[in-house]
Amino acid sequence: MFCPKCRSEYRKGFTECADCQVELIPELAPLPAEPKSVDYVQYQELLSTYNLADIAFIESILDSEKIIYFMQNEEFNTLTFSPQPVRVMVNTDQFDQAKKLLKDFQPQYSRLSSD
Ligand SMILES: [Zn+2]
Repeated sequence: MFCPKCRSEYRKGFTECADCQVELIPELAPLPAEPKSVDYVQYQELLSTYNLADIAFIESILDSEKIIYFMQNEEFNTLTFSPQPVRVMVNTDQFDQAKKLLKDFQPQYSRLSSD
């Protein structure tokens, strides 16, 4: 038996939830499925670099593997010198895959993020 309010499970013989004072029911209705947004993508920093040649190379690799990513600060770097590195942000779900792809890639001016 279950309490429909707090979802506590009770042994046979109980008819009322001690906490909520509501009648127990034999089966709980399943919880509504969590709404899944298809458009929402979480990004994680794969690496950052000052080297635009690296960026082009990384883009080509990520494109070829259909990894969802974006480059942060890219516009600034292509137009003028910027003290900000370009940060390569990849879809969190594909982070491990992306990292594996770039495992052998040793960019001269880049640092792979440590996690
Ligand atoms: Zn209850």
